[in-house]
Amino acid sequence: MNRLFYDLHIHSCLSPCGDDDMTAGNIAGMAKIKGLDVIALTDHNTCANCPAFFAACKKQGIVPIAGMELTTAEEIHMICLFKRLDDAVRFESNFCKYKIKIKNKPDIFGNQYILNENDEIIGTEDYLLPPASSLSLEEAYTLATEHGGLCFPAHADKISNGIIGILGTMPEKPYFNCVEISANASANASANADKNDFIRKYPSVKGKIILRNSDAHYLWDISEAVNYIEINSSPNNGSPEMIREQLFMFLKGD
Ligand SMILES: [Zn+2]
Ligand SMILES: [Zn+2]
Repeated sequence: MNRLFYDLHIHSCLSPCGDDDMTAGNIAGMAKIKGLDVIALTDHNTCANCPAFFAACKKQGIVPIAGMELTTAEEIHMICLFKRLDDAVRFESNFCKYKIKIKNKPDIFGNQYILNENDEIIGTEDYLLPPASSLSLEEAYTLATEHGGLCFPAHADKISNGIIGILGTMPEKPYFNCVEISANASANASANADKNDFIRKYPSVKGKIILRNSDAHYLWDISEAVNYIEINSSPNNGSPEMIREQLFMFLKGD
């Protein structure tokens, strides 16, 4: 088995809360420096920087995953990941109608920059991205899975926008094979202890794959190579498609 070091929750400069330096090129470059094998771009309610992200990761030899951090109507943050870039693009075009249209105020909330495959700013998103969509948790799960996506609760240990903080428990339906707990610098040193504490506190997460991602909004927050998944292919030899295939099989529990 080979270790695949991952960070599956990263924001670009398209998220208003993401630093302007979080360009696709800078994210991929930092992930390379940190020794990560696979990273996912998960901007709030959009996949629009995923094509730029794929181009940047290809240059660095890192496996990219197209994703979105979707806000449900209940204000729960869900990570949606797609095996193929095309699936993410199709998902976004079908998700768009559920977004609430509030104009962004860049000087208050931050810039929302759209990048091209050369890492250049080619536009801005006019509507504020993070607010709740009109999709319920179940509807969001269904829409993501209909597009071949993997959907799991983001930062479930956090009160704000975490599934347990909002619902009081981990629901039995929809069923999530994975759950994310947040990472921080000190937590990296004792990741397993924190995972065990989390399971003890919330027994309803027992048996699920617990992922620890950075939720990086700044380059220096991107995970170090500490969290990994074991797969058959070597990250150095397998094609990105093959590695994504194995990663999704593992995360979906297939
Ligand atoms: Zn979040
Ligand atoms: Zn996030």
